[in-house]
Amino acid sequence: MKPIIHTTLIEAIKLLIHSDSPRLDAEVLLSHVLGVTRSYLYAWSDKILTPSQNAQFQTLLTRRLQDEPIAYLTGHKEFWSLHLQVTEDTLIPRPDTELLVEQALARLPQDSQEQVIDLGTGSGAIALAIAQERPHCRILATDKSRMALKVAQANAKNLALSQVTFMVSNWWIALGEIKATLIVSNPPYIPKNDPHLIQGGVQYEPRIALIAGADGLVDIRQLIAGAISHLVMGGWLLLEHGYDQAKTVRELFIEYDYESVKTYHDLAGLPRITVGQKHCP
Ligand code: GLN
Repeated sequence: MKPIIHTTLIEAIKLLIHSDSPRLDAEVLLSHVLGVTRSYLYAWSDKILTPSQNAQFQTLLTRRLQDEPIAYLTGHKEFWSLHLQVTEDTLIPRPDTELLVEQALARLPQDSQEQVIDLGTGSGAIALAIAQERPHCRILATDKSRMALKVAQANAKNLALSQVTFMVSNWWIALGEIKATLIVSNPPYIPKNDPHLIQGGVQYEPRIALIAGADGLVDIRQLIAGAISHLVMGGWLLLEHGYDQAKTVRELFIEYDYESVKTYHDLAGLPRITVGQKHCP
C-alpha cells in the first residue's frame, strides 16, 4: 500500500507514545520533510508520499524516538518570534531565556544607541532579539565556538539584523578595552555530574554550552568578576542561572560590589535570572 499523509501520521503518532506531544512531533516532522505548513497536512491528507519523502520522514522519526530534540531534526527553533537556525553546535534556545531579553529591554530605552554585549551567544538568540527590538543599539555577540558563531552570523543575515557584530572570544579574552552599558549572558551553568545532562534530549546539546565545573558556577563567577571592567558606571550585568543557584549568584554579585542586585522568575515560577548594576561613584 502506498503511504498517504493521513495514515503515515497515524502510524507515527502510535510510535511516538513516549513523547509529550506525539501528534505535534509527527506533524512538525512531516511538514518539514514535505516543505509545507501543518495545515497542508489536513487539506491534502490523502496525498501519496514519494518513496524519498517517506524514507526521509522515517529517518527523522527514528531519531525522534531516540529522544533527539525536534529543533535539531528540523534545524530551526522560534525564539522571541524570530525564526532561528540551530545546529548541534548551538544550544536550543529555551522560552525561559526570553526573560533575559525582557529584562535587557526594560533597561534600554526604545531609541537607545548604547553598546550591548551578549557573551556566549550560541545561535545568536539573545543578541538578535535585542537587535530586533532596539535597532539603534550596537550589539557585540561572542562565542568561543567558531561553529556556533557561524550559525549566529547566518541567523543575523537571514533576519537582516546587520547592527550585530560577532567575535570569537572565550568570555573576556578577546574583548580588549570595550565597555558596554549592558552585558547579558546565558552561560553554561549545569554541574558536571548532574543527571539532567543525560535526559530529555539534553544529551544531544553541546557539552561546552551546558557544563560549568563541579558546582555549575565556574563561568558565572568569571562573568561576574570580569564584567566590572567592561561595564560603564551604572551599567548592568544580566545572567541566566540554574533554578537552585539564585542565592549564590546574588552573593557573588554583592561580593563584587554590584548594586540593585535582583532575581527574576521564569514562566515556571523558578528563579532564573539575576541582575546587578555596576556602582556609580
Ligand atoms: N536551561 C538549560 C537546561 O535546562 C541550560 C542552559 C545553560 O546551561 N545555559 O538544559
